[in-house]
Amino acid sequence: MPQKLWREPLDAQKTKLPKAEICIITDLCKGCGFCIEFCPKNVLEQSEQLNKKGKHPPEVTDESSCALCGFCTAICPEFAIFVVEKKGENNVGNEEKE
Ligand code: SF4
Ligand code: SF4
Repeated sequence: MPQKLWREPLDAQKTKLPKAEICIITDLCKGCGFCIEFCPKNVLEQSEQLNKKGKHPPEVTDESSCALCGFCTAICPEFAIFVVEKKGENNVGNEEKE
């Protein structure tokens, strides 16, 4: 797998980031793995679950790391994943991860 590059902003510790809720419509998924492969924050992995198509949909490993970039939604050929902002909740920088 190619190495993923991710730069952290200089003010990341001070900036409040919105919290994400990742929604996966498992039975629409065709198991292509694009969302898993190209998520810049590596918050998705293939699940053990089988859906109605006999495919393994993604599952969320660390929702708090999601950057709400929407790339998984853009790249999914089946419209099976989308991300919404949790209202009234914020992450503060990376404090919660450490
Ligand atoms: S919105 Fe971006 S960071 Fe969040 S799961 Fe989708 S691709 Fe990954
Ligand atoms: S990109 Fe869409 S169809 Fe492909 S594994 Fe992810 S959710 Fe499933």
